[in-house]
Amino acid sequence: MASRAWLSDQQKRRATRIAREKGLTCPDCGGSPEPAPEQEARAHPGGGADITMRCLNCESASEFALVLSPEEAKALGLHAL
Ligand SMILES: [Zn+2]
Repeated sequence: MASRAWLSDQQKRRATRIAREKGLTCPDCGGSPEPAPEQEARAHPGGGADITMRCLNCESASEFALVLSPEEAKALGLHAL
């Protein structure tokens, strides 16, 4: 059972930036996704995490996961989960 945590506004901004650096784009419009507002981050037992992302640009219903390495999860402050 993976741990979950709500993201702070600062963590959401960082996650958005990481998604951009990874080249993660909306499958529908190619826009930059942001963490889905009502979603939690899920920490993986191995130290990584994933965050459900959604495109606010086209308000697509599609959701997709931003997968974070242990280092990225730590940078977001998710390592304490
Ligand atoms: Zn989109």
